[in-house]
Amino acid sequence: MSDMKTRIYLDNAATTKTSQEVVDAMLPYFTENYGNASSIYEVGQRSKEAITTAREDIAKVLGAKTEEIYFTAGGSEADNWALKAAFEAYSKKGNHIITTKIEHHAILHTCEYLEKKGAEITYLDVDENGLVNLDELQKAIRPETILISIMFANNEIGTIEPVKEIGMIAKEHGVLFHTDAVQAFGQVPIDVDEMNIDMLSSSAHKINGPKGIGFLYIRKGVKIRSFVHGGAQERKRRAGTENVPGIVGYGVAAKRAAETMEVRTAKERELRDYFIDRVLKEIPYVKLNGDPVKRLPNNINLSFRFVEGESLLIMLDMKGIAASSGSACTSGSLDPSHVLLAIGLPHEIAHGSLRLTLGEDTTKEDLDYTLEQLKEIIGKLRDLSPLYEDFVKKQNK
Ligand SMILES: *Cc1c(COP(=O)(O)O)cnc(C)c1O
Repeated sequence: MSDMKTRIYLDNAATTKTSQEVVDAMLPYFTENYGNASSIYEVGQRSKEAITTAREDIAKVLGAKTEEIYFTAGGSEADNWALKAAFEAYSKKGNHIITTKIEHHAILHTCEYLEKKGAEITYLDVDENGLVNLDELQKAIRPETILISIMFANNEIGTIEPVKEIGMIAKEHGVLFHTDAVQAFGQVPIDVDEMNIDMLSSSAHKINGPKGIGFLYIRKGVKIRSFVHGGAQERKRRAGTENVPGIVGYGVAAKRAAETMEVRTAKERELRDYFIDRVLKEIPYVKLNGDPVKRLPNNINLSFRFVEGESLLIMLDMKGIAASSGSACTSGSLDPSHVLLAIGLPHEIAHGSLRLTLGEDTTKEDLDYTLEQLKEIIGKLRDLSPLYEDFVKKQNK
């Protein structure tokens, strides 16, 4: 068997393959339908209609109004916009923002930036499964609190936060609630009204759509400043000629994700639990990170003692398996993931972590092959580890 043929992609939280259906829908908007949506002639109007259709399809998935969807260049931009613009628009009310220690860097680094501009930020702790504590959230709210930004689901450990309860608390206190739903959109049912969500970030490339396109949902009535100044696109809030192919692709990807959600996530959940059960039984000194139940259907995050995550990734890659040790943004740095530290893992255990995220094409055969390779690689790496040798010696005394 040739290794090159056995490419198994288990890093769908980093990005996904653009589905053929999405590519097919996008192509005409590069070629025959290239018009500028702001133009009044026919080819421009075709672009405009396509944008409207995509906006409607996306709004439906969230239970939102069409005009509450604002396209951006991705999840990071949507996160930046929500936080920076709320901080400016609500400066008369206060300067306090509540978030968590396990947010994506698009949120955390924006918070650090806002601190330099005078914002006060509370970074809530999470428990050992990665869940925020609702009492602590209540207690953190002050008269000058303008925004709560808590992610819907974590990109590293897959934990799904109690978003509906957070939305209730925010509403009761008259505080805006933003959620980074980049990992949850299309994977978990979301209803912005039922969950009292005021703003929500999402990104197409995490749901088999194209890269470089996302949206910020902004509830009608929320005072939010423009993010890009210029033309009148996106109701004057985000100027710039629209990325029509990207928007069309996102619309198709969102519609498709919603339609296939039930069947696809049931299959993923089954595969996920099958793999987790086998790993915990068949490999010693391993721990599952994240909540076992309140968990994204496609997320597996494991820590192996006496193993170095980067070596593990390289050896998996040599066997044709693409995985991640944390979030793609932190790999390459030697600091352990902020999320794994926040759930209380010691540095040396956080270093031996592996994230496998399944996609719509993942099969049981892929996971069986991955498990066999993983067992062999973990064994090899432990045989090379002086710490493991000491540990075994002590055990045998
Ligand atoms: C991927 C991701 C982002 C960033 O989205 P981009 O479209 O890549 O900018 C933000 N938040 C979370 C939780 C993510 O997983």
